[in-house]
Amino acid sequence: MSFKAKLILSYIVIISASFGIVSFFLEAKILAIGFFFAAALSFVAGSVIARSVTVPINDMIGLFREYSDGDFTRRASHISGDEIGSLAKTLNKMARDIEDKMSRITTQNQRLTAIFDNMIEGVAVIDVSGHILSANNTMKRIFGFQEVQAGKALFLEVIRNNEIWDVISTVLKAGEPVSKEINIIYPVRKIFRVNATPISESHTVEGCLIVLHDVTEMKALETMRSDFVANVSHELKTPLTSIKGFVETLMDGALDDKEHGRGFLKIIQDHANRLDSLVSDILALAHLESREMALDKKDFSPKVEADRIISGFAAQAGRSGIKIKNELPAGLSVNADKKRIDQVLTNLIDNAVRFNRSNGEIRLFSQDASGATKFIVEDSGSGIPERDISRIFERFYRVDKARSHESGGTGLGLSIVKHIVELHDGKVGVESVEGLGSKFWFTIPK
Ligand code: ADP
Repeated sequence: MSFKAKLILSYIVIISASFGIVSFFLEAKILAIGFFFAAALSFVAGSVIARSVTVPINDMIGLFREYSDGDFTRRASHISGDEIGSLAKTLNKMARDIEDKMSRITTQNQRLTAIFDNMIEGVAVIDVSGHILSANNTMKRIFGFQEVQAGKALFLEVIRNNEIWDVISTVLKAGEPVSKEINIIYPVRKIFRVNATPISESHTVEGCLIVLHDVTEMKALETMRSDFVANVSHELKTPLTSIKGFVETLMDGALDDKEHGRGFLKIIQDHANRLDSLVSDILALAHLESREMALDKKDFSPKVEADRIISGFAAQAGRSGIKIKNELPAGLSVNADKKRIDQVLTNLIDNAVRFNRSNGEIRLFSQDASGATKFIVEDSGSGIPERDISRIFERFYRVDKARSHESGGTGLGLSIVKHIVELHDGKVGVESVEGLGSKFWFTIPK
């Protein structure tokens, strides 16, 4: 029944009741009874009809209240065929649409929050008065602070870094993006590239977005690279200058001096050999560092290899009365790149001979280390001062530069060792007592 029909019925109830009352006063009893009867009937029908209007409307009022509180879960249940029914249907559709949109927005928000929080860069939004509106997890981790209430905490109160604050205030004042490299020492020592961009609304700066990229490692690599170039140039320059100098001396007449001439040629030869080892080591290192380097792994006996290498050092060691003992077990086998491991053993034994004392001793032995074989080269040489131990595997790092030069060292032997062992997923290390000797070790996974 349509809403209009329900209204007409209500009019009938009122009119019948009115006629009943009038007939009663006019003493037309039968007529009055008839009208009252009709009125009573119409009243009952009217009440039922009125209920069918008020109940769904009250239900919808309740729903509107819930919807305005943001709860769109409930739907209108009185779906009649009249206008109120179609209003309820429209309301239900609207609620469903809004709920869908809200859930899409919520999912999108959650995704954005996850991205924001998991970015490697530190990100923060600051309002025009310098309060933090939001900061991601990386930002909180870098500067060691907890969640801040949006717009309640001043940037400088939370992140006490004047340099970053200067960048932000420049952006807030000038409305132009700023990019700057900044060193921070607290709470951690790091280098960041800070990119700050203004957030504008209808040409007015409303805030600033700052993004912090950690460039510490990149900077260290850059420094390492330029240090390496400087070191290589220096290392190459020294023998070249000597060679040039002695060649000039020879040309200026020393060539005719039989006695000294040969001595000068010997010096030139030594420096040329030095240049040769340097270039070979630099090339080896460059090759090891290039990602194309593939290992040619095979099973082999390290004892057999070590015997061969040691025999190559027999003359050099013999001159200083140094004894080299190969205590590797005959049955020991490793799966590794034989040529590269030979290089590791050669470099370690070479150092053990060069930095040993006269009549010293060198032991090569192995140990079982969880999931790996540990190889140890122990010598009775000069040992390494404690302060140098952490830097000993760096390129061109030498404790005693003169001694290394004298004995033909390039300062690259240990970095080559480290590279090769790490390519095998192994570890390197050294234990040393100054004046007593050193134990260089490396592991090769089984
Ligand atoms: P080098 O060509 O100078 O030997 P390395 O990289 O092999 O270069 O070694 C770096 C430095 O480590 C050496 O100059 C030396 O000071 C120190 N060193 C290496 N091995 C030993 C050792 N067995 N005993 C004492 N010092 C060592």
